[in-house]
Amino acid sequence: MYRAELLFRHHVSPFRPGTALSADEWDAMWADLVALMKVGVRVGKMVVVRPEDDHGEPSYAPDRPRTYVYRRQGAACRRCGTPVAHAVMEARNLFWCPTCQPD
Ligand SMILES: [Zn+2]
Repeated sequence: MYRAELLFRHHVSPFRPGTALSADEWDAMWADLVALMKVGVRVGKMVVVRPEDDHGEPSYAPDRPRTYVYRRQGAACRRCGTPVAHAVMEARNLFWCPTCQPD
């Protein structure tokens, strides 16, 4: 879940090779992940949606965290309204917004 959400928060396509990330992009993503995980430990649940984006359709399942893209395929992106996409890569589920995370 953190993988899909982190890529969304940083506008990175899940199809972009890790070797194509700049050091600055990597550092920003790492710092964001560390902060998100600290919040998760403190409040006892994953919190990944920024307050300003926390509107629109409910969580993907009862008592599950609200997410930008994780398990929301076909639902409207919380930022731009584009349907969230899904694909399987190497037996892993990918969820992303094609508009917010262009190739
Ligand atoms: Zn979007």
